[in-house]
This record gives sequence, structure tokens and C-alpha cells, in this order.
Amino acid sequence: MKKVMNCIACPLGCLITVEYDGSEVLSVTGNTCKRGDAYARTEITNPVRSIHSTVKVNGGEHPVVPCKTSGPIPKGAIFDVMKEINKVTVDAPVSIGQVFIKDVCGTGVDIVATNNDCGK
Ligand code: SF4
Repeated sequence: MKKVMNCIACPLGCLITVEYDGSEVLSVTGNTCKRGDAYARTEITNPVRSIHSTVKVNGGEHPVVPCKTSGPIPKGAIFDVMKEINKVTVDAPVSIGQVFIKDVCGTGVDIVATNNDCGK
């Protein structure tokens, strides 16, 4: 089988072609660097994504504060992780790096703040 994909590891967006048999990668071409090779192999064997979202803040300068996963999560877990993020409301003040959810959905990845909110 063959799959063509744009590498998302950097803004260059190289067009990569992967030949594979089931979950075994046979060849990767079109990548400009090793990161593209690694990205393409992961896309075939265990696709992952990082999530950027927001959580609600009580008493904050703003109604929400941005957050992200502390690392990539399996693509298949995105929907469940978003449901957990949407349940969260935190109290101001909030600090960058503050953990909102530890080990979200058993992924081993935390949901962390990506901005401060000192409160009103
Ligand atoms: S293959 Fe390398 S240079 Fe090309 S988009 Fe991916 S990371 Fe960037």
C-alpha cells in the first residue's frame, strides 16, 4: 500500500510518500530530513497529535485560559481528551505550566496552562 502525506513537523510541509504492508513500513521518500521520516513512520504505525484548547476560568481577567497537552496523544484519543478538557473550570490565578488534568484519559500526558491569568 502507498500513502502520500504532508509532513507537519515543520512549516516546510514536505510531501512524503510511505509504502507499507499492514503496519510495517517498507520505504519513506520525499522527506527532507530525519524528522519527516520519523513523522511518516509514526503516522502509519501509531498516529499521534498534540492538542491546543482552552479551559474556563472563575474570576479571571478573561473567561478562558489556553491549554495544551504536555506531549502528543494517540489520534484515537482526541475526542475523549477534548471531552475531559471541556469539563474543567479553574479558579484564577493561573500560571503557565499549571497542570489542569494529570494523565488525561490514561495517556500519560497532562493538560497544562499555556498562559497566565492573574485574576480580576
Ligand atoms: S521532512 Fe523535515 S524539512 Fe520536510 S516538513 Fe518534515 S520536518 Fe520539515
